[in-house]
Amino acid sequence: MSDSAIIIAELTVSVDEAPRRAATAAAWLLDQLIIQPNDQPDPLWRPSRYVPGSDAAAAVRDVRHNTGPIGDGIDVLDQRQIHDPGGNYTSPACPNCTTPLDEDAHITLIKTWLDRTEPLVTCENCATATLLGDWRGPWAIHIANLAVRFNNWPLLSETFIHDLGDRLGPRCRLIHKRI
Ligand SMILES: [Zn+2]
Repeated sequence: MSDSAIIIAELTVSVDEAPRRAATAAAWLLDQLIIQPNDQPDPLWRPSRYVPGSDAAAAVRDVRHNTGPIGDGIDVLDQRQIHDPGGNYTSPACPNCTTPLDEDAHITLIKTWLDRTEPLVTCENCATATLLGDWRGPWAIHIANLAVRFNNWPLLSETFIHDLGDRLGPRCRLIHKRI
């Protein structure tokens, strides 16, 4: 499977709305030639529905990656699930004072988010209450009904992340995963 992944997850889109938004995002990615259909899906070797398109390099931050293969498959995910950073995990930081959340407390809060709704979390240092998905860090964990996952891709450009985010919804979060 993959060794790393860049995930863009959207936190506000409902379960009912996610399939339509996912289709819109996939259509845009196909139209931009960032992705193309995977003509030879293989459950072990190439399980993703999409593979890099002929203009995939346009989505990448560093132009040195413009030659050679960009990465592995792309998954457009429209089911509610945990998006975790794997071995990159670092507890997220308070958006007001940057104090990190206690890891054990974070895992308990993630369970609350998964089972019920996104919790409002009060910082132990500055007492600011913030929704868990607004605590900062690309190595945090998010629950989302809608996401796009780029398997083994290099860093994506800010412009591309912004443009794709526009198609997904207003509350996108970036997760850098290492398996
Ligand atoms: Zn704080």
